[in-house]
Amino acid sequence: MLDKKVVELLNQQVNKEFYSAYLYLDFSNYYYDHGLDGFGNWYKIQAQEERDHALLFVQYLQNNGERVVLEAIEKPGVELSSPKAVLAEGLKHEQYVTSLIHNIYAAAQEIKDFRTMQFLDWFVKEQCEEETNADGLVKKFELFGDDPRSLYMLDSELGARVYSAPSLVL
Ligand code: MG
Repeated sequence: MLDKKVVELLNQQVNKEFYSAYLYLDFSNYYYDHGLDGFGNWYKIQAQEERDHALLFVQYLQNNGERVVLEAIEKPGVELSSPKAVLAEGLKHEQYVTSLIHNIYAAAQEIKDFRTMQFLDWFVKEQCEEETNADGLVKKFELFGDDPRSLYMLDSELGARVYSAPSLVL
């Protein structure tokens, strides 16, 4: 049995991951609307990954005999003002998610819940990757976004991304 506070945080994280999926689907739609289908593809796959994250938290709770409580998912609350600004919002959101994961980790650590800490290790690493990717997109757009030909190449590169299931198996 898991600690009540940890279970509450894990349940909240299910919601936060689904919210991330919803937010990134909004980003994806924005890019498709603006003719940047590669960016749209990138964020659509990002949304799928976030849904996978949510399901991993669900699975972990269930594996530990805990009840999963699904709450309403908030409406995507980020203003999509320009293709470049959206990327910056993506980075900001990933930094926020990192803080949430670290917060659950700290709660688990405090009560010596080694099992949850080990489960979260994958997410700690994953967040490093997510931040690096989001930061990379911001930097690439800063470098190439103003040149139509370079932007076309960048968009094509992002269009080549294919979905793959998470490497964590529970
Ligand atoms: Mg996530």
